[in-house]
Amino acid sequence: MKNKASVVIIGGGVSGCAIAYNLAQKGVKDVVVIDKSYLTSGATGRCGAGVRQQWGTEMNCRIAKGSIDFFETANETLGYNGDIEFKQEGYLLVASTDSELEQFEKNVKLQNSVGIQSRVVSLDEAREIVPYLNTDILKGATFCPTDGHLNPFLVTDAYFQAAKRLGVEFYMNTTVTGVEMENGLIKKVITDKGDIETEKVVNAAGGYSREVGEMVGLDLPVFSENHEILVTEPVEKVQGPMVMSFSLNIYCQQTPHGSFIMGRGDKEKTPGHNVESTWQFLDKMALTVTELLPPIGDLRVVRQWGGSYNITPDKQPIYGTCDVPGFYLAIGFSGHGFMFAPMTGLLVAEQILGEENTIDISKLSINRFKTGDLYLEPSVV
Ligand SMILES: Cc1cc2nc3c(=O)[nH]c(=O)nc-3n(C[C@H](O)[C@H](O)[C@H](O)COP(=O)(O)OP(=O)(O)OC[C@H]3O[C@@H](n4cnc5c(N)ncnc54)[C@H](O)[C@@H]3O)c2cc1C
Repeated sequence: MKNKASVVIIGGGVSGCAIAYNLAQKGVKDVVVIDKSYLTSGATGRCGAGVRQQWGTEMNCRIAKGSIDFFETANETLGYNGDIEFKQEGYLLVASTDSELEQFEKNVKLQNSVGIQSRVVSLDEAREIVPYLNTDILKGATFCPTDGHLNPFLVTDAYFQAAKRLGVEFYMNTTVTGVEMENGLIKKVITDKGDIETEKVVNAAGGYSREVGEMVGLDLPVFSENHEILVTEPVEKVQGPMVMSFSLNIYCQQTPHGSFIMGRGDKEKTPGHNVESTWQFLDKMALTVTELLPPIGDLRVVRQWGGSYNITPDKQPIYGTCDVPGFYLAIGFSGHGFMFAPMTGLLVAEQILGEENTIDISKLSINRFKTGDLYLEPSVV
């Protein structure tokens, strides 16, 4: 293990790997990524890997659009010898109440204003897009054909391979246990395999970002919560887009291999690091999917699992600098950090290098929690 680095990134999920790649691509030498387990062992390897631009706040729209633009040519840009399996078959967001439909109509105007090709669709058109959709319980829908999904393991691998070729070193099965400070400045990252001298540390620790913040004396406004998900047996291709409803609490997508992958949130979960699977999830998920997409209810479940959402009070990420000089944040993705990863990588690398950000992300700095200027995202599961 190196005993000195220019930047130490804590977390080998998609965010940490994307930040490492962007730093190295901008010419930064001696970048190190540390993970207590293996690459993608956190939320990244447990996620639904859907990517959408249909958001209700301008920041999320811009970040998601920038990321989807990147994914479109990522195999080539990253020089990947595989395929990240980007399929752009759209997201169909369905509204089941009048107020939700009103919000969707506002969102589409906002999305269109930043160049996103979403549109409001009638229930008839929604049924053309997904023929077995139960429109009896719906008021309307919106559709964006360039939304889609990817393979999260291959995306992370593509960033990892590209970063490695540019000289980044990755230390897996290595736990960061502390950060040594002197006069308020970072001196060293302490791990169970040895120490690394550095002045710059990135907290990309996903569900453990709060604990990593405590290592430099920060009380970060994030918490972790288990979100469950399941996958069915594979069947012939019948559904293109992701179908998502915030009020019914469901997202459901058919993967290229034919399995359906679906999940929902649960307001009764208590915060913590538990990522267990429960029969209650299976029960509620089956009821919801059978109501909205009836034939899917007949499929057999092959596997279910849980993973950590790292959540902020306004359901938006926290990016960049904070009160501790040299300590950078890429945390609090609140269930949408996979689809933001390309822009996370770029924006956080720009902040570390003191460059002007490609998108003004000042609204997503940690300062918003001091000023009370929260930036609430309405479109989350
Ligand atoms: C069920 C589920 C479905 C989801 N679906 C979607 C979706 O469809 N679309 C989407 O965009 N997002 C989705 N998400 C959210 C997405 O998975 C996350 O926002 C994203 O993967 C976060 O990536 P990350 O790299 O920031 O964190 P992680 O992938 O969690 O990586 C953090 C890493 O830090 C490491 N670490 C932590 N502490 C330490 C330490 N002390 N020392 C060393 N290493 C440490 C961990 O081992 C981990 O590998 C979903 C999440 C879940 C759980």
